[in-house]
Amino acid sequence: MDAAHVDDDLVEVLFTEKQIHDRLGELAADIERDYDGKDLLIVGVLRGAVMVMADLARALGRHVEMDWMAVSSYGSGTKSSGVVRILKDLDTDISGRHVLIVDEVIDTGLTLSWLTSNLNSRNPASVEICTLLRKPEAQQMPVQARYVGWDIGEEFVVGYGLDYRENYRNLRDIGTLAPHVYS
Ligand code: 5GP
Ligand code: MG
Repeated sequence: MDAAHVDDDLVEVLFTEKQIHDRLGELAADIERDYDGKDLLIVGVLRGAVMVMADLARALGRHVEMDWMAVSSYGSGTKSSGVVRILKDLDTDISGRHVLIVDEVIDTGLTLSWLTSNLNSRNPASVEICTLLRKPEAQQMPVQARYVGWDIGEEFVVGYGLDYRENYRNLRDIGTLAPHVYS
């Protein structure tokens, strides 16, 4: 789906498909450099990170294992509820492994700070975070993301995996959702 298909629902397009792919290419180059000679497991946080995982993994010019976790922190609204639950755990034993968590957006930081300490308790060699978007002003929990696509404002965004009530995930670009959609 293109932005033109949901034109009335968006205030603006923040990042186009092309901009996203270019930025992921840059992050992939950083990741290749930092993990040179090391094995790497990337862990995608379902369901929002599906697109980032797919494109980031293909931008990497090296072997990488992929696994998935599903956690719930939001319900179906646009504000964090503060409650984190594991809905689907890893299939991989990460002890001794270099783990890179891949997510689409850090908002309050609650989900990823919780997930990071959860994974760190499993004796991995390292745990780092790659997020496409970060909302620095919304962050309540300190989360050190090593790889960040862009810092954005506090507005609610959709597309490229990011949903509003399970819609818009298949939008190619990332845009700001118009308030009339959710009010
Ligand atoms: P946090 O725990 O950092 O507050 O929330 C992270 C999760 O909240 C993200 O993985 C995503 O599912 C959801 N989220 C936070 N901000 C946005 C946003 O602007 N748009 C959408 N669609 N989801 C968001
Ligand atoms: Mg997410």
